[in-house]
Amino acid sequence: MPEGHSVHRLARQFQDVFGGQRLEVSSPQGRFVAGAKLLTGHTMVEALAHGKQFFLRFEHGLFLHVHLGLYGAWSFGGDSTFTGASSIGAPRRIGERESGQASDGGDYAGPPAPVGAVRVRLVSDHGWADLRGATTCAAITAAEAEAVLDRLGPDPLHNRPGDREEFIARLRRRKTAVALLLMDQSVLAGVGNIYRAEVLFRQAVDPWTPGTAVDVETAGRLWDDTVSTMSDGVRDGRIVTTPPSLWTGGAALAPDADAHFVYKREGMPCRACGTLVGVTEIGARKLYWCPGCQI
Ligand SMILES: [Zn+2]
Repeated sequence: MPEGHSVHRLARQFQDVFGGQRLEVSSPQGRFVAGAKLLTGHTMVEALAHGKQFFLRFEHGLFLHVHLGLYGAWSFGGDSTFTGASSIGAPRRIGERESGQASDGGDYAGPPAPVGAVRVRLVSDHGWADLRGATTCAAITAAEAEAVLDRLGPDPLHNRPGDREEFIARLRRRKTAVALLLMDQSVLAGVGNIYRAEVLFRQAVDPWTPGTAVDVETAGRLWDDTVSTMSDGVRDGRIVTTPPSLWTGGAALAPDADAHFVYKREGMPCRACGTLVGVTEIGARKLYWCPGCQI
């Protein structure tokens, strides 16, 4: 599932390529025809992300609300102004992993025929975006968007004044294991399985510590490290939580095998202490951790 950094990159990309533009909205697959009719022909004013929730605000007050879920992804294409505008380099696709740079520039002749189950297609004068496989795709009012946001905890990628304190309070209010709380979107919005495991390792926190037993200073470090590692993810378009000193071959980019401390490294020696990295299930998701460092 895409974690919050991917959704924030999406919002940047949409703002860059569609912000202030009148969009044609359609549902080639047919499942979003009614919603598309409410949005088509209107100008997209603002693209917003909070955690894994994504919104496009249109000038007449309605929003397109998307949650990618496990399988959702957007793909893009367009002319040279479309692909050149993006602050993130206009990847062709943003889902669990990003792929490729859009490079239709020059000979762009409008969007291609839809391939597969395209739930929503957005088309401007300069390019297009197709959504497939999302869990949520809805045209909603401002009040409904507000209600979605009200259910979410603070987003470390916004890191607004008061967010850190709010996270600390929400985490320490519950007896649930901290490993579960970090992925509870009402406690912290945007973190998924990779950042959860990596931040707990980096801060040497036992994943089973109840929220009520996490001291204020440790909770604050969890927030700060999440802000830091996820901000790197927004910049890089991938999750890398290890320092360059651990990358083999003196590479400028972390090889995939060196990008994490514990995630999907079960049975391999911990990069810090040599203990074999463990994996277990918690809340029906795999949790990776070092039994040596995180006690
Ligand atoms: Zn270790």
